Amino acid sequence: MSQHPITLIGGGLVGALLAQQLAQRGFAVDVFEKRPDPRQAGFLGGRSINLALAERGLHALRSTGLADDVLQRAVMMRGRMVHDRDGQHGLQRYGIDDSEVIWSVSRGALNTLLLDAAEAAGAKFHFDQALTTVDFDRQRIRLADANGVERELSAGLLIGADGAGSALRAAMNAHTPLGERVEPLDHGYKELEIPPASELPAAVLQAGEGRDGFALEPNALHIWPHGSYMCIALPNTERSFTVTLFLPSQGAAPSFATLPDAAAAATFFTEQFPGLLPLMPRFAEDFEHNPIGTLSTLYLQRWHLDGRALLIGDAAHAIVPFHGQGMNCGFEDTVVLANLLAEARDDHAEVFAEFQRQRQPNADAIARMALENYIEMRDSVADPHYLAKRELGALLAARIPTHYMARYRMVTFTHLPYRYALERGQAQDALLEQLLRETPDVATIDIDTAAQRFVSTLAPLPELRHG
Ligand code: FAD
Repeated sequence: MSQHPITLIGGGLVGALLAQQLAQRGFAVDVFEKRPDPRQAGFLGGRSINLALAERGLHALRSTGLADDVLQRAVMMRGRMVHDRDGQHGLQRYGIDDSEVIWSVSRGALNTLLLDAAEAAGAKFHFDQALTTVDFDRQRIRLADANGVERELSAGLLIGADGAGSALRAAMNAHTPLGERVEPLDHGYKELEIPPASELPAAVLQAGEGRDGFALEPNALHIWPHGSYMCIALPNTERSFTVTLFLPSQGAAPSFATLPDAAAAATFFTEQFPGLLPLMPRFAEDFEHNPIGTLSTLYLQRWHLDGRALLIGDAAHAIVPFHGQGMNCGFEDTVVLANLLAEARDDHAEVFAEFQRQRQPNADAIARMALENYIEMRDSVADPHYLAKRELGALLAARIPTHYMARYRMVTFTHLPYRYALERGQAQDALLEQLLRETPDVATIDIDTAAQRFVSTLAPLPELRHG
C-alpha cells in the first residue's frame, strides 16, 4: 500500500474511474460522494440519460479492463442521422466502416459499473457525504450527510472529481484564487423521451424508419438542426431514445422563456419538429417535470493547490456537450493522473503541476472545439458550403490519408492530443476554404492538384496507434 492515502471528492464517472485505477495501483482511496449509492437509490429517479462514448473514453476503459463490459451495455452509433424540416433524413457516416463509430451509454449504468469496478479494486465509497469546507492548513475536510449533519475528518491527498459545481474548487479558490472564469452559454437544454416502438401506436411510426423495436433507426445519433436551436436523440439499450432540446434560454421566440408550459412547447414542436412530437406520448409530463439544464465553459488558471489538492474532470474544465467529449476528456485525465501518481508517489506538487501542464492545453482546445461544434450541429450540417467542404475533405482523406484527416475524426476516433486536432484542423480548414474559393463546385476540383497543395503545405499527420 502507498503511504499516501487519497481522499477523492465525487464518485461520478470520472471519480469512480480514477478510484479504480488508483486502487489498482495500490493506493488507499476513500471516495466521498454527495448522492446516495445509485445502485440502491436508482439513478436520477429512473430517467434514461445517455452519453456518447468515443475512442478516448474507450481507450481509458480498455486500459482498466472495463471496455468490453461497457460496450455490452451500449448502442452503436454509425453517424449523424440528419432530419430536415420536411421529414426527410439521411445518414452522415462518421467513418467508412464500423471501426469508426461512437457508442451511446446510459450514465446510470456506466456509473454503476464503474463503482462496482472501483470497489472490487479496493476503493472505499462513502455515499450521502457532501464536502462542505476544507481546512487545507490542517488537511481536514467537513462533510454533511443527507440530513445536513456535519462531521470533520482528516484527509489524505485531496482530489476533486466533484463536477462542474465542485465544492473542492470553491474551497481551494477561497484559500488561494485559482483564476476562475465561467462563460455561460446563453442556451439551455431539456431532456425528453421517445419510448420503445411497442409503446407507440402503429400510425405514428414512419414506415421503415425504426428497427428492432426502436421508433427510429437505432444505430445513429439523430439531429434535427434548426439554425439557432436543435433537437438530438441518442438510443438506449431498452429501445427508447433520450431526446435533448437545445434552445436559447432567454429572448424572443424561440427560447425557453417563450415556452412557459407544455402546451406552448407542444405548439412549438408541432410547428418546428412535426415528425418528432407524435413519437413522444409523455411529452407534456416530461416537459413539465424535467428541469431546464444550463451549460457553461469553465476555465481555471490553476488546477491545484501546491501538492495538497487537485481538480480533475468537469471540476477542472467543464465544457459544453456539443462534441460529446466531456466524459471522454475526463476519462483521458484519469489515465494520465493515475500514471503520474504511480510513477512519482512523493512529490505531489510536481505531479499535480505536471498533470496540469499536460492536460490544460488539451482541455482548452476541446472547450473551444465543443463550442464550435454547436454551430456545426445545429446549423452547418444542413449548410451547402459545409457539405461541400465535407465532401472535399472526404476526397482528400481517401487520396492523402497521411496529410488530411477531418478534425471531427481526430477528436473522436484517435488519441491525438486535442490541442493538435484544433491546430491541425485550423490549418486544413484554411486550405479547404482556399480551394473552394477558387473552385466552388467540388465536382470540378482537380483532386490531384488539391492533394499536392496539402502535401506541400502541411507536415504529415503523426502515425496513429489504435487500441
Ligand atoms: P460529474 O459527472 O458531474 O460527477 C460529479 C460527482 O460529484 C457527482 O456524482 C456528484 O454527485 C458529486 N458531487 C458534487 N458535489 C459534491 C460534493 N460537495 N461532495 C461530494 N460529492 C459531490 N460527455 C461525453 O463525453 N459525451 C457526451 O455525449 C456527453 N453529453 C452530455 C450531455 C449533457 C446535456 C451534459 C450536461 C454533459 C454531457 N457530457 C458528455 C459531459 C459529461 O456529462 C461530463 O463531462 C462528465 O459527467 C464529467 O464527469 P465528472 O465525474 O467530472 O463530473
